This record gives sequence, C-alpha cells and structure tokens, in this order.
Amino acid sequence: MVIEGLEWARAQDAADPLSRFRGRFEALEAVEGVAPIYLCGNSLGLQPRRTRELVLAELDLWARRGVEGHFEGEWPWYSYHEPLQGPMARVVGARPEEVVVMGSLTGNLHAMMASFYRPTAERFKIMIEGSAFPSDRYAVASQARLHGLDPAQVVVELQARPGEVVLREEDIEAAIEEQGERLALVMFGGVNYYTGQAFDLHRITAAAHGVGAKAGFDLAHAAGNLALSLHEDGVDFAVWCTYKYLNSGPGGVAGLFVHERHGSSPGLPRQAGWWGNDPATRFEMPSEFAPQRGAAGWQVSNAPILPMAALRASLELFDEAGVSALRARSERMTGYLVGLLDGLGGRVEIITPREASRRGCQVSIRAVSGGGRAIFESLVKGGVVCDFRSPDVIRVAPVPLYNTFEEIWRFVQLLKESASDD
Ligand SMILES: *Cc1c(COP(=O)(O)O)cnc(C)c1O
Repeated sequence: MVIEGLEWARAQDAADPLSRFRGRFEALEAVEGVAPIYLCGNSLGLQPRRTRELVLAELDLWARRGVEGHFEGEWPWYSYHEPLQGPMARVVGARPEEVVVMGSLTGNLHAMMASFYRPTAERFKIMIEGSAFPSDRYAVASQARLHGLDPAQVVVELQARPGEVVLREEDIEAAIEEQGERLALVMFGGVNYYTGQAFDLHRITAAAHGVGAKAGFDLAHAAGNLALSLHEDGVDFAVWCTYKYLNSGPGGVAGLFVHERHGSSPGLPRQAGWWGNDPATRFEMPSEFAPQRGAAGWQVSNAPILPMAALRASLELFDEAGVSALRARSERMTGYLVGLLDGLGGRVEIITPREASRRGCQVSIRAVSGGGRAIFESLVKGGVVCDFRSPDVIRVAPVPLYNTFEEIWRFVQLLKESASDD
C-alpha cells in the first residue's frame, strides 16, 4: 500500500471545500511558538468564532431589556429552544419535534429511564455494553435501585469475546435474544468512548423490539460524528451532550430524542416540570400538568439561554456543511490516519474497528510493547492535544470541521518519534 505523505495531505486540504470551516473556529494559542495539533474534539470541541457574538447578543439583550428579553429579540428566550429543534434534529436524523435541547446528558438519561424503564416482575433487565462510560453505568444501576431492585440482578453487561476488544454485532443480537422477555431496556452508546466502536443502532433497535424491549442510546460520542437516523431506525429514546463533537463549550446544554410514537402519548409517565407543559397555558399556571407534544414535553425547567446561544453557533456550521458531507470527509481523514498508523511497522495497535461503518472519527491506539503513557506524554510535548485512558489507550479524533490532513500527517510523525525513543 502506498502511504501518502505530506505533499498529498496538503493537496487534500487545498482541494476539499470543507477545509474552509477551519477558519470558522478560533485558533488555539501557540505554545512556545508551535501551533497545537488538536485531536481532542471527542472530549471538548473547539470554539466556533461566532459563539462569542451570539452569546454576547443575549448578554446584551439582558443588560438592555431585563425580563422583556423573554418576548423580544430575534429568538425570544421564552421559545429559544424551538428554532434549535430543526438544526439539532438534522444532526441526529430526526424530526424536529422529536428533539429538544435541554439539561445535561446524564440528567436526561435519568429522565428517559424514568419514562422508558418501567420494570415488572418478569421484565426488568437492562443491557449495556461492557466498558460503558462510568456515568452511564452509575445511572442504570441507580435506576435499578430506585425501583427497589438489585443492580446485580438487573444490569447485563455485554463483554467482547475473550481476546477481542470490540463487540460483534451478531453477539449483541444473540445476547438480546437470550434475555428475551426478561429484557426491559437495551441502553447502548452510539460510539463507545474507549474503543471508538460505532454500534449499528438499526440492528440493535430491531433486536430489542423483537423481544419486546425498549432501545435507548447515549450518543455522547456519536452526535456530530456519525450520520445518524434515529427516526428511521425506530430508536425509542436517545440522549447526548453537545460539548464534544457539537462544539457548544464546556458543560454545554444537552440533547434529547423521543421517537414520535412516544412523544404523541401525553399519558406516558415522566418527570414533569412547567417548561414541558403546553406553552399556550404554561403561564396560566394550570394545576394539572398537560405536556406539550414531542420531546419538548420532557423539558422541566426554563431554558439556559447562554449555553443555547453557544450551541446555536455550532449548529449553524453543521447546517452549512451538511452532516453527510462532513461524515464523508471524516471517513477519508480517519482512513488516512489508519493508513499512516499501519505504516509504523506494528509498534502501535489500533483497537477501533477498521471498517468505516463501524467507527466514527476517533481512533484508539495502544502501544504494542507497553509504555503507552510515556508515548502520550511525549506527544503532548510535541504539541499534540489528545487523551490517555487507562490502562493503555491513546484516543485521537480528527474532526472534519476543523482538523486537516496535514495535522494527521504531523501527528503520525510525532507518534513515530515517540514510539521509537523508549
Ligand atoms: C461524555 C460522556 C458522558 C458525560 O456525561 P455528562 O452528563 O455530560 O457529564 C456520559 N456518557 C458518555 C458515554 C460520555 O461519553
């Protein structure tokens, strides 16, 4: 295989029309004269240049008009979440009313399980992927306890086969079959945060529904990364944060998806709050909660305008670039990264699946002869921003909105040097 070098990488950057989006983000400050190579968009996306302007506009409205801002301006605060539904829905492949921007990822996960995890004596199991993100594990275990159940009896963690790192799709289906009527909920990530494996939401959802269980997903590492189709896939619910691939800033407001077949059932039990009430009567302060249709009916509190303004800046970029074009660029970039890593002669191992359809942009790398932490530290010295996850994985994520082919090439040169100086 020909491993394309620096000239090729530069030519890609020059030829790809999506390269222009890099200039729509703030540039990180140089450290000792070196511009950082930022490969950490899986953890915190960079700041769109328009974020400051949109956040300042809301601060300004508040300063000038106080409470009147709820009903004034281009996007009145009272209904600020509404114009975000369309762009957010396009990112996850949903209908606008199936999506709402609210709260935080883990908080939304609890809210969704309150509605969709309704255990009975026969059907009470929750299946999650092995090595799920700790917050998700805490959430499902605590939901079991909230129902007076023992998490050890409830939570089924699906492990990869001995000697393998990622789960096989057919094993997921077989495990769901095996749990059968005991299974209440399958709660998977869209992309596993550690291995970078992308799950087949359509297949998992179909398998869960096949045994009468619900299918919910944590899209923390999938939203803004994969081309999703939550509506078509029939997913029951999904939650995600927006500070990773969706560039909304630290602790940004999160996302929530409820399929329309549930969103149109006002009788579905939920953790209610006044902001989920029908907006036509919200301020009449009715004594009985009457939920708004769609995902917006799960809102609890009035909306955090400043983080929503920040998210708006990023969603504008997604709309302008288009999710499928970004995904196509992402597949090319990550494919290039994998090709270069393969050229390092076996010093590092890639644990992320090799097929583009089974991964997002992230690649998880392991040093074959150990010393992963030392390699990571040497990369950091060289100006790479990426992260290290115990016990031995370096995660790097070339993000199609702002990374370049040249950065990928430079990263692999630094890795080559790091992996050979021990
Ligand atoms: C990032 C991440 C979280 C973080 O949850 P917050 O509630 O936003 O703090 C949870 N789960 C997964 C899988 C994540 O990747």
